[in-house]
Amino acid sequence: MPTINEKISEEIRAQAKKLLAEGTVAAVIGYASGSLPMTVKPLVVRRPEDCGKLLWNTFCVLNLANFLPEVLKSVEPPRGPRDPKPEGPLPKVAIMATGCWSRNIVVQIQEHQVERERVVVMGVGSRGMVSRRKVEALFAGREILAVEELDHDLIVRGSGFEEKINRWSVVRDNCQTCTHPDPLLVDVRIGEPVSDRKNPNPFKQVDELEAKSAAERWGWFTSEFATCIRCYACRNACPLCYCPTCFVDDAKPQWVGKSLDATDTGLFHVMRAYHCAGRCTDCGACESVCPMGINMRLLTKKLNKDVLNLYGIEAGMQPDSPLPLTTYKINDPQKFIVTEAGAGKEGE
Ligand code: SF4
Ligand code: SF4
Ligand code: SF4
Repeated sequence: MPTINEKISEEIRAQAKKLLAEGTVAAVIGYASGSLPMTVKPLVVRRPEDCGKLLWNTFCVLNLANFLPEVLKSVEPPRGPRDPKPEGPLPKVAIMATGCWSRNIVVQIQEHQVERERVVVMGVGSRGMVSRRKVEALFAGREILAVEELDHDLIVRGSGFEEKINRWSVVRDNCQTCTHPDPLLVDVRIGEPVSDRKNPNPFKQVDELEAKSAAERWGWFTSEFATCIRCYACRNACPLCYCPTCFVDDAKPQWVGKSLDATDTGLFHVMRAYHCAGRCTDCGACESVCPMGINMRLLTKKLNKDVLNLYGIEAGMQPDSPLPLTTYKINDPQKFIVTEAGAGKEGE
């Protein structure tokens, strides 16, 4: 009997083929099998006959929204930088999206990176994605050659061993604390919808860090980022990091040094986290791709908590509202910036 994800894969292939064959979309963004166990790779399909390569499994940790603006550009008729936009509707692109990725698409729409009418969201309710790192940690010292996915378990095989492990026990931390696993935008529903998850405290990890003293928090920060090799995979995997020139690549002015010095590295991470404030959907792609196993996501999660507490907003959940940090009201409290005359000491 096929598993839940095998059935979802079949549906994705059939729907993608239909959308391409009838000309509704010019491309479909999905996943294909990776070259190593527990990996997948992004795949852009442009012909109905290639849809058989598409798949869905528990290792789909890359956020496909990251590729959407570029793929949309790739299906537009060629034109020079000064040529006007062609008349009439431009071709559409279909993309698979779970809860958090669909919210990234909403943010991209709010930030005018993507036009809603050009996107066909193939929505998949997420059951949580597995952390390859967690599985490897369970089998430390033994090489994993293949992993078979069942609905609730994984069968891990290597040279001379075969073991069954519970799937949820190795699901990524961000998926385990996710409260909105079903896509917010759905044009083509794949599989069954899933309900919001009740989680008494999705910010438990942040609370634990906040409860520490300043010295302990500094200790966590310096040791967590000590092994960062500045490869920028975390930035490159994020669908919100689309700046034509990132501040770390700027030379004039040079905002942050390019060395592996702890100050430069720490500054990069703090600045990137602030750039994602009010926009991050805790998709976990940044953490999943880090070759050094660094938990930089805790910084963005902390800012997600602050934005929720200050503005009552979770990124991508209110498509018709302006983004919290790109708008203001004249009567916003700004006690930390200005003080009314006679209202206290400056800066209080
Ligand atoms: S870190 Fe900041 S400047 Fe760099 S790509 Fe991301 S949002 Fe843009
Ligand atoms: S900062 Fe990380 S968790 Fe947040 S949206 Fe970007 S890739 Fe996802
Ligand atoms: S992916 Fe990891 S090693 Fe690379 S820059 Fe980000 S935190 Fe550093």
